[in-house]
Amino acid sequence: MRAHNFGAGPCTLPLALLEEAQAEFTDYAGSGMSVVELSHRSPQYTAIHREALSLAREVSGAPDDFDAVVIPGGATMQFAMIPLNLLGGERRRGAYVVAGTWGRLALGDARRHGKAYSAWSGEEHGFRKMPEKGEIELTPGTRYLHVTSNETIGGIRMTEIPESEAPLVWDMSSDFLTRPIHWDRTDLVYGGVQKNLAPAGMALVFVRRSALRDVPSHLPRFLDYRWYAEKDSVGNTPPVFSIYMMGKMLKLIRNLGGVAGLERRTAEKARMVYRVIDESNGYYSNPVDRRHRSHTNVVFRLPTSGAEERFLERAAAMGLVGLKGHKSVGGCRASLYAGLESESAARLASFMEDFRTKNS
Ligand SMILES: *Cc1c(COP(=O)(O)O)cnc(C)c1O
Repeated sequence: MRAHNFGAGPCTLPLALLEEAQAEFTDYAGSGMSVVELSHRSPQYTAIHREALSLAREVSGAPDDFDAVVIPGGATMQFAMIPLNLLGGERRRGAYVVAGTWGRLALGDARRHGKAYSAWSGEEHGFRKMPEKGEIELTPGTRYLHVTSNETIGGIRMTEIPESEAPLVWDMSSDFLTRPIHWDRTDLVYGGVQKNLAPAGMALVFVRRSALRDVPSHLPRFLDYRWYAEKDSVGNTPPVFSIYMMGKMLKLIRNLGGVAGLERRTAEKARMVYRVIDESNGYYSNPVDRRHRSHTNVVFRLPTSGAEERFLERAAAMGLVGLKGHKSVGGCRASLYAGLESESAARLASFMEDFRTKNS
């Protein structure tokens, strides 16, 4: 039986895509070898690579003055590359919105490199909300404002684009392509692909070419965005399987109506689960300010930790897995990423109703 996988990452991928990959696996396009054995300079792999990156552009709607690149190392690698590449030149400070664990980690890495500061923090409120209009404070010399569009652990989503004199840098790891990107105010957007788009191993990054004017010349090539752009992300051997699967997933998203289609589908899945929480007379609870509830990571608690344990056990017995909350916060979390079928969300919602009826 195939699991309904609500894990927060690596994500579930649609069965149809896995089967397609399986059918192609040992003999890709008549090459006599699998995708993971092909030379990354071969015509077969080059076609896979170009198509995946061109779909990334097409589906995201990236303007022509942005480069689309894939970089090994996940989102965490970007926490380092962003300050390394962008904090040269005159405006040398990176501002960070800290609305959860990931924002805090991004700021921590930027501080190791150079001048970075918190422009807003939700920590004292227990990470339950995003900044309100006018709350973000930038100091002079700020090069960029880094924001996490969706805090995966707290289950909080940024609904309003922050006002900022500095260009925005977005960590969209956990809601990549499930919402439009505000290109005109943005210098860089990135996400680890393992939440919505592909198997783990890399980040998909869009960067405005003019933002790379002051990249320090001492950077090793592997840490320099310009190298990825110049070499079309094949400067060295790329994570070929991840790129191949990303291409399949992007094609699927395009067929679902692109970002707008995925946004609707994701909101619909989230509605199913939040409805059960809200209609449970407090049996299930969600701590997040309603306006900022995540569509991709729904966090919830049950009345006692004993009830949570039984809930997770019963759910697993029904094939509903990956529902344990992050260890830093406990409770439960249902991740509703792009690869999760709507039917899985519906199953979860009906299981939750049923569990409450029997246990409250
Ligand atoms: C998962 C996650 C990360 C870390 O991603 P890695 O690819 O594992 O480094 C960073 N930011 C957010 C918002 C995430 O959800």
